[in-house]
Amino acid sequence: MNNYIVSARKYRPVTFNSVVGQRALTTTLKNAIASGKLAHAYLFCGPRGVGKTTCARIFAKTINCLSPAANGEACNQCESCVAFNEQRSFNIHELDAASNNSVDDIRSLIEQVRIPPQIGKYKVYIIDEVHMLSQAAFNAFLKTLEEPPHHAIFILATTEKHKILPTILSRCQIYDFSRITIKDTVEHLQYVADQENVNTEPEALNVLAQKADGGMRDALSIFDQVVSFTGGNVTYKAVIENLNVLDYEYYFRLTDCILSNNVVDGLLILNEILSKGFDGNNVITGIATHLRDLLLCKDPKTADLFEVGASIRDRYIETAKKCSNEFLYKAIDIVNESDLNYRISRNKRLLSDLTIIRLCQLSSPQAGPEDQKKKQVIDPIFSQQETTPAPNTANPVKTSPKPPQSQLIAAPKSDARMPSAPTQTKEPTQKPVNIHIGGLGVSISAFGQKKEKEEERHEMTIEILNERFTPLQLINEWKAYAEEITEEHHLKNTMLNCLPNLIANTVFEVVVNNPVQEQRLTDSGMDILSRLRVNLKNTHLKMEVRISEDNEKKLAFTPAEKFNLMMEENESLRKLKDEFGLELS
Ligand SMILES: [Zn+2]
Repeated sequence: MNNYIVSARKYRPVTFNSVVGQRALTTTLKNAIASGKLAHAYLFCGPRGVGKTTCARIFAKTINCLSPAANGEACNQCESCVAFNEQRSFNIHELDAASNNSVDDIRSLIEQVRIPPQIGKYKVYIIDEVHMLSQAAFNAFLKTLEEPPHHAIFILATTEKHKILPTILSRCQIYDFSRITIKDTVEHLQYVADQENVNTEPEALNVLAQKADGGMRDALSIFDQVVSFTGGNVTYKAVIENLNVLDYEYYFRLTDCILSNNVVDGLLILNEILSKGFDGNNVITGIATHLRDLLLCKDPKTADLFEVGASIRDRYIETAKKCSNEFLYKAIDIVNESDLNYRISRNKRLLSDLTIIRLCQLSSPQAGPEDQKKKQVIDPIFSQQETTPAPNTANPVKTSPKPPQSQLIAAPKSDARMPSAPTQTKEPTQKPVNIHIGGLGVSISAFGQKKEKEEERHEMTIEILNERFTPLQLINEWKAYAEEITEEHHLKNTMLNCLPNLIANTVFEVVVNNPVQEQRLTDSGMDILSRLRVNLKNTHLKMEVRISEDNEKKLAFTPAEKFNLMMEENESLRKLKDEFGLELS
């Protein structure tokens, strides 16, 4: 083991052609060299470990090669090339700006720039992580960059292009390095494995490549790590154990449960995953990725976007055949919503469980339209006049016979029943009470004796409600919630000051004035939402909180709001108001 060299170094490419995954870019560089059109400064941008420094080194070697090959590559045999390959060439200088970022470091580099090369034509200065240079160092460097000597070429490398000053950017030819695709990574890992006589399974390398996320250096160092753990037998099982990656198998099993409406097994699998120490949010995003992959595999054209080995791809394609597009869209929507709510959820485990339950419900046996109507736990408000013969609801106040929304509301709802739900015979007869709000053309129905039965059912059924509601109803429920708060005055005030604004069918926005208010609302977000969802009979309701822009803020302040804000800041002001029963006129 004395001569052990890490794979990332041992298999570092020495020609442009052997650079993995940056074909377009290396071809451009080769052409530039072949045609003798060299710039004085280059900027190589891109994520870590994708070959920026490697390309810079190959570039330096190639432009100094004494007998370059016809294809634009270095010969790797001449005196200069050998010196480069043995890392003793004087024509290349590397400065790591992350650790040498002072003016003095740059000055000593500028001193060297003046001295022409002894062998070869160019001296190449590679400045790694150039965005880390101090402001003063940048300025000192700028002069040299403006008027460099003929023999000097600068290659600046950075992972954070946006931090580079425009004055530098405008003087450089810019090359954007992309992440290396999983396919390219797997191929290269396979090549290294063959050279090293390491046994591999294609799926194992695939997981490795995914974990490396587009960086070859990372991929190779993870590879080394797994090889040493497994004694040179890199199997899929060994890799997922070593890298703490969740097995595909779990997602396939979950998908089977979801497709067969098997809530119980779905929850058991989730429990098994969580008990292995995986984070709930990771599992939810994992399911989302899995569903997205299934969607991709529905069509051979998009299946190419899906970067996995052939055997697992076949399995995806097979499973995808069992899923309808509609099912996948809905499922992805559900998982995505859970992902968004995860951070603000107070009971994250419940949210994970609920996600599985809702997914399973997607495939609950669909009966005919007549049956379905009877099964619904709560009938849509606005379609009652159509679906029930409306026995004695002839309320004299009722003026508009059919609210305009009735058509829309009658759209089919998800069947929310779990398999063990009670039979339909208990369906109570409804006596809707219609209240007409003048001028708005909106009806609100109150359920009378149905309530009791409903609550009874709550224990056994999980409902997906999708009633329509008006902005006014939303605001009223919001205020009602706020008014009932007794302990947290700040939350109460924030809620009363910042009213919800409906921005989509089921999404409302609350514009707050500062981060403190934002925090208050997001902290209590799930509580508020749960209540609003129940009262507005809409499970899809979502809240978005954002801080107002400055101008918006000015416009939004009425005197009453200003006073409320002041009360928030100053508790005694509230006492003063309450003690003396003051009102702002
Ligand atoms: Zn050469």
